[in-house]
Amino acid sequence: MERVDIAIIGTGPAGLEAAITARIRNKSVLLIGSKDFSNKLVKAESIKNYLGFPDISGRDLADRFACHLEEMDIEITEDKITSVYSMGDYFALQNSKNEFYEASTIILATGVMQGKLYPGEEEFLGRGVSYCATCDAPLYHGKTAIVVGSSEKEEAEADFLAEVADKVFYIPTYAGDIQLKDSVEVLREKPKEIYESEGKRVLKTNAGDHPVDGIFILRESVSPAQLVPGLATDKNHVKVDRTMSTNIPGCFACGDIVGQPYQYIKAAGEGNIAALSAVSYLAQKKREAEKKAKEEESHGK
Ligand SMILES: Cc1cc2nc3c(=O)[nH]c(=O)nc-3n(C[C@H](O)[C@H](O)[C@H](O)COP(=O)(O)OP(=O)(O)OC[C@H]3O[C@@H](n4cnc5c(N)ncnc54)[C@H](O)[C@@H]3O)c2cc1C
Repeated sequence: MERVDIAIIGTGPAGLEAAITARIRNKSVLLIGSKDFSNKLVKAESIKNYLGFPDISGRDLADRFACHLEEMDIEITEDKITSVYSMGDYFALQNSKNEFYEASTIILATGVMQGKLYPGEEEFLGRGVSYCATCDAPLYHGKTAIVVGSSEKEEAEADFLAEVADKVFYIPTYAGDIQLKDSVEVLREKPKEIYESEGKRVLKTNAGDHPVDGIFILRESVSPAQLVPGLATDKNHVKVDRTMSTNIPGCFACGDIVGQPYQYIKAAGEGNIAALSAVSYLAQKKREAEKKAKEEESHGK
């Protein structure tokens, strides 16, 4: 895939506005997330503080956003980014199938991770605890696993894992009906802690202890520090300045991920700033490259 000017991760109001602004400034854009935008957007019953819409449901506002994207010919790439690596003059974005996208700049608009990490989660991450069933399923061939899912979207991941693993348990941390393969056992329990015992990873819940080979914790957003190694954060938030620049040159962030208040209009406004800052950064890089090329040319003469 060709390297784009700006990759935007997240399809809530922050990411969508960033994409629109970047497109208006004639940049090539890769917008990654969900064609159904964001749960926090579509699930709001009544929004009364979004400029231009005195009272609108989240679903209706999402429909307006969809029209705006269509009008501007912006497509959403349905995918989940698991890691972002700064490669010096570009970024490599890894997805759940271990494929890579490339971009000269990135904008993080992934929303805020709800809740805290479970005790033991960080310690065992990559050693029996995973955030991506699609990526790590092959490791669990003939083994047992628990999937902790934060929304209906994660049910497909559990089903996929069940095709490979010997036994899969599913713990939803949301209310509502669950639609899973019959072989997946649903446990309506509250996860408390992860620990190790006799070579197994054990998920302790309010109802008991479950020793398994792997524990998958699937949330709509992961913690930003895990998504982008080296990113300066303050708890669940990315540290940015007023231009939405992070500590990593070329990496910008906007919306709930950078802090409170958690509001649609604030997220969209910051998406606009982040995109304009990415555009300035690209222009600066271009000027530097042209100057360097001229210097090299004059030295060569
Ligand atoms: C029920 C409810 C009602 C609300 N009502 C109001 C209201 O009336 N007024 C108001 O101003 N605010 C309201 N809010 C707050 C508002 O929803 C948030 O502030 C806003 O959605 C934040 O936008 P965002 O773009 O930063 O993040 P989000 O809307 O959270 O979007 C983030 C997106 O990034 C995607 N994503 C995350 N990680 C990845 C990844 N690794 N790869 C690809 N995609 C990823 C997610 O799937 C999601 O689509 C409400 C929130 C809730 C939950």
